[in-house]
Amino acid sequence: MSDVIVVGGGVIGLSTAWELASHGATVKVIDQGMIGREASWAGAGMLPPGNLVGETSGEGRLRALSCELWAEWTRSLRESTGIDNGYQNCGAIEVSFDRSLHDEADTWEAAGNKVEFLSDERRRHFEPTISSRIKDAYRLDEFCQVRNPRHLKALAAACADAGVEFLEGSAVSGWRVSENRVTHVRTTVEDYAAGQFVICSGAWSRQLTQEAGVDLNVEPMRGQIVLLRCSPLPFRHVIQDGARYLVPRADGRILIGSTEERVGFVKQNTVDGVQSLLKFAVSVVPALASAEIERTWSGLRPFSGREEPFISRLPAQENLFVATGHFRSGLQMSPGTAVLVRQMLQGQESSIPMNPYSLVGSVPGPTGASGEELIAAQSHQQ
Ligand SMILES: Cc1cc2nc3c(=O)[nH]c(=O)nc-3n(C[C@H](O)[C@H](O)[C@H](O)COP(=O)(O)OP(=O)(O)OC[C@H]3O[C@@H](n4cnc5c(N)ncnc54)[C@H](O)[C@@H]3O)c2cc1C
Repeated sequence: MSDVIVVGGGVIGLSTAWELASHGATVKVIDQGMIGREASWAGAGMLPPGNLVGETSGEGRLRALSCELWAEWTRSLRESTGIDNGYQNCGAIEVSFDRSLHDEADTWEAAGNKVEFLSDERRRHFEPTISSRIKDAYRLDEFCQVRNPRHLKALAAACADAGVEFLEGSAVSGWRVSENRVTHVRTTVEDYAAGQFVICSGAWSRQLTQEAGVDLNVEPMRGQIVLLRCSPLPFRHVIQDGARYLVPRADGRILIGSTEERVGFVKQNTVDGVQSLLKFAVSVVPALASAEIERTWSGLRPFSGREEPFISRLPAQENLFVATGHFRSGLQMSPGTAVLVRQMLQGQESSIPMNPYSLVGSVPGPTGASGEELIAAQSHQQ
């Protein structure tokens, strides 16, 4: 019997498993498919900066906590597995054709991040290939990126080294409960016992929380990506315009992302999606018109309709927890999430206040917990 069963082997589940195993727990990760092949694989790997002193929102604090951990996690993963996850400080330039970016830049600065509002001359100095039709631009010096497929490979290898057991191709369908404790997960193969359980099932988490009495408001939000090949790279920074972005990789590839589509669990690329991404890319960097298209893909982000993910104990069971709903920020927030989950499971004080990640906002299921119980579970973990 394991100390902990983690349901879902994306970046949240693997980071949590590694963090727990590194602190002495025996851990089993169960995935309905192959580990690390869903949203976490599909993501662009952008890691915006954060400052724990200046950030005041739950989203900002978790981003900042994670920022502090990324370099150390990268070093530790490389040391224990020999895998380089491609983490690097590339900087980012936010651009706009029509909106003013002054307020946005001020917000980053007020939270203690290094930001420079760019004149046309400074923009050309950093990235001369950005279109001259841009109205406003600012630069975030501490913006980083990671090659997420490599990071997942490193996490999986580090987990295996730390004794984590993987069970792939086994969908968890529910829980065996005795009084107010979960004793086993039910899977298509057999039932597995553990002392504690964590739901890290991304866009698929809702059904598993419903089985435990809470209707967690998490749904899939599709994001499409187009991968270009372009050598030499025409720019070095991540370039963003709101929800759209260009991410240059050191090996001459450029990711164009991304769409936000509420289409259920349908993972495919569409003519509309790909066309709009290509159009965006060429409008920002005209030189990309001659780049080669290498491939396209899409992934399902866990969308919860709020800024913060859910990181909490479920109210009706004392040993069932959830860490999901990271939407567009699951990679950047993964180290911080893993540390918070470990602290919660081991009854330790949390590095940052936990109330922003509580289940408030989710709907109690028909046999589920009342609003008061949700609040009680939340205050239990302050
Ligand atoms: C196009 C795109 C671009 C993105 N770009 C970025 C970015 O630049 N930066 C960033 O921080 N984030 C980004 N994201 C968001 C990020 O990828 C997600 O927030 C993150 O991957 C969520 O991780 P997860 O582990 O919760 O989910 P997933 O990676 O989806 O993992 C969930 C796992 O649970 C398993 N599972 C589900 N149900 C069950 C079950 N019943 N039983 C067993 N296993 C189950 C699944 O098979 C899956 O392996 C992007 C996402 C997309 C799609």
